[in-house]
Amino acid sequence: MLQYIYVMRKVSMTKSLVAVLNKFDESNDALSVVRLVNEFSHEMNRTTVYRILKRLEESKKLHSFIGPGGLKWYAKTNDQIDGVLQETHPHFHCEDCGKIQCLPIDLPVPALPNHEIRSVSYLIVGSCGRCDD
Ligand SMILES: [Zn+2]
Ligand SMILES: [Zn+2]
Repeated sequence: MLQYIYVMRKVSMTKSLVAVLNKFDESNDALSVVRLVNEFSHEMNRTTVYRILKRLEESKKLHSFIGPGGLKWYAKTNDQIDGVLQETHPHFHCEDCGKIQCLPIDLPVPALPNHEIRSVSYLIVGSCGRCDD
C-alpha cells in the first residue's frame, strides 16, 4: 500500500514537472515565482511549485536570478542562442511590457580578492525592441 502511494506521487510529480517546464516553452521570456505559483494554483500548491523549480534548476533545465522587487525569476537554460548561453549572462527587464529576457552575452565575473561569490545577477533595465517602435 505504501509503495502504491509512493508510485502515484512520483507519477504526478513528473507530470507537474513537465507542465512547469512547458510553460517556459510558450515564450522565451523569464517568469517570476509569483506568476508561476498563480498560473498553477489550480493544479498544484505553492510548495510543489517551489520544489519543482528547485529540481529543474538542479538539473540545469532552468536558471534563476533576482529580478525587480527582489523577486526570484526563472528562465529556461538555452545554449542554442548564439552558441553558448553563459552562466553569467545578463537579463533585460523592459519597464514598458514588464518582460524579462536572457541576453546571449557573456559577462565575466570580476575577480574579487578576499570575497566569496555565491551568486551573480546582471539586470539591465530599459525598453525592449517590441515596445520601442
Ligand atoms: Zn517591452
Ligand atoms: Zn537567463
